[in-house]
Amino acid sequence: MKAVVIGGGIAGLLAARVLGETYDDVVVLERDKLSDQPEPRAGVPQGRHVHGLLVRGGEIMEGLFPGLRDELVQAGAHLMDAGEMRILNPLGWVASTTSGLPLLVLSRPLLETHIRRRVTAKIVDDTHVTGLSFRGSTVDGVLTRDGRVDADLVVDASGRSSKLPAWLAEAGIVVPEPSEVDSRTGYATRLYTASEDFPVVVAESLAAPHTPRGGIVMRIEGDRMMVTAQGAGGDHPPRDPEGFGRFLDSLRGPIAEMIADAEPLTPVYLFARTASRRIAFEQTRGWPGGLVAVGDAVCVFNPVYGQGMTVAAMAALLFRQHRDFSAKGCQEFQRKVAKTAQGAWTLSSNADQGWVDGAHAPGPIMRAFGWFMKKWQGALTHDQDIFRRFLRVVHMVDSPATLMNPVVFRRLAKYSRQDRDRARRRAGSSPR
Ligand SMILES: Cc1cc2nc3c(=O)[nH]c(=O)nc-3n(C[C@H](O)[C@H](O)[C@H](O)COP(=O)(O)OP(=O)(O)OC[C@H]3O[C@@H](n4cnc5c(N)ncnc54)[C@H](O)[C@@H]3O)c2cc1C
Repeated sequence: MKAVVIGGGIAGLLAARVLGETYDDVVVLERDKLSDQPEPRAGVPQGRHVHGLLVRGGEIMEGLFPGLRDELVQAGAHLMDAGEMRILNPLGWVASTTSGLPLLVLSRPLLETHIRRRVTAKIVDDTHVTGLSFRGSTVDGVLTRDGRVDADLVVDASGRSSKLPAWLAEAGIVVPEPSEVDSRTGYATRLYTASEDFPVVVAESLAAPHTPRGGIVMRIEGDRMMVTAQGAGGDHPPRDPEGFGRFLDSLRGPIAEMIADAEPLTPVYLFARTASRRIAFEQTRGWPGGLVAVGDAVCVFNPVYGQGMTVAAMAALLFRQHRDFSAKGCQEFQRKVAKTAQGAWTLSSNADQGWVDGAHAPGPIMRAFGWFMKKWQGALTHDQDIFRRFLRVVHMVDSPATLMNPVVFRRLAKYSRQDRDRARRRAGSSPR
């Protein structure tokens, strides 16, 4: 039995790793020419920007490739406690603490290169897939610029630029229109030299609808600092170095100061196609047998939440239990893929709805969500235990349901009261 995976990004490599447990032959077709060195490449332009690997994603990858974490640390990645990141949210510095959650800090090319080295599937680079090959209502291979490759199962993992809807349309199969929530966020990233005494991660978070600007400084392999500026609601950081510097100067935290004496190593790179978008492939009428899709080809998230690689890892694990790739089985698989992405989608698309509605006309649901987020932001600056619980959810280790409990709500209310009273005292009026 042979499986062909389209795309050798994170989703494709992880899918190939798990498919290797049941398929005799697994082939990954990648359009880029691949280098053995961790370098940015054309097919993954986002690789030049900050890529935070959530704890859950890191755990899954370590499970699939035992020893990967140590190997990456040997190669220069930093391993830190996720709770020790320094984070400035719109209401102040988050109460950093030890969380027991191991966080790998590294560049996307380093992570991808090491995963690629560990995958035993055959990886054929410089091979552009141009369509699907059908036998009746079943996909039996892919078409490439140079010919055709047979497969019992085709997995589309070609990312956000996937042409799957168009390829299916050629066979008369119409997929549902994508759902989209566009926060109009732009990224601008530059690498700098870093000295030993820089913290590993300092982040300033943006939040709808009043805090459109944020940034991250991450110490990556090779004693370099990756500095990413993020601007939502269309307030994008510019590409020219002076404009980039001014954008960083306008942030509330110390990022501009941190890099004041650092030497730039690259130009400023931009990325602005950041809308969250998902296609409900599972609802497609006439979905063929022998074809499934995973990763960004199915569901792309606004990258500020750092969810994409982890959701791709969760989807790869589905190949362990799922064996039926008949038309019905493939649709069932897509249902599972959609379920895997659901929690992350709910979190990011709800939070981003504030950018869509705008600061001036939020609907009642978004007003309630904004109110709730503000309580959280306040509590996170006061309470290490609240931060620890929040981290476990954000890193997809625990379900969001764990935050919906009376202990948490009581504490949110307490800090909210304290903050309000303090604000009133500052404004000269006495608390009620
Ligand atoms: C600016 C930015 C920052 C991000 N930051 C984070 C982060 O902090 N944390 C996180 O988890 N995620 C982040 N992401 C998301 C993350 O990059 C993806 O979700 C993740 O890599 C999974 O993507 P994928 O493997 O499905 O697609 P990709 O990684 O995009 O890989 C797709 C692969 O398919 C290949 N390909 C495409 N078309 C063809 C074809 N026709 N034939 C052959 N090969 C093809 C491409 O060359 C590429 O190698 C970020 C994304 C962006 C845009």
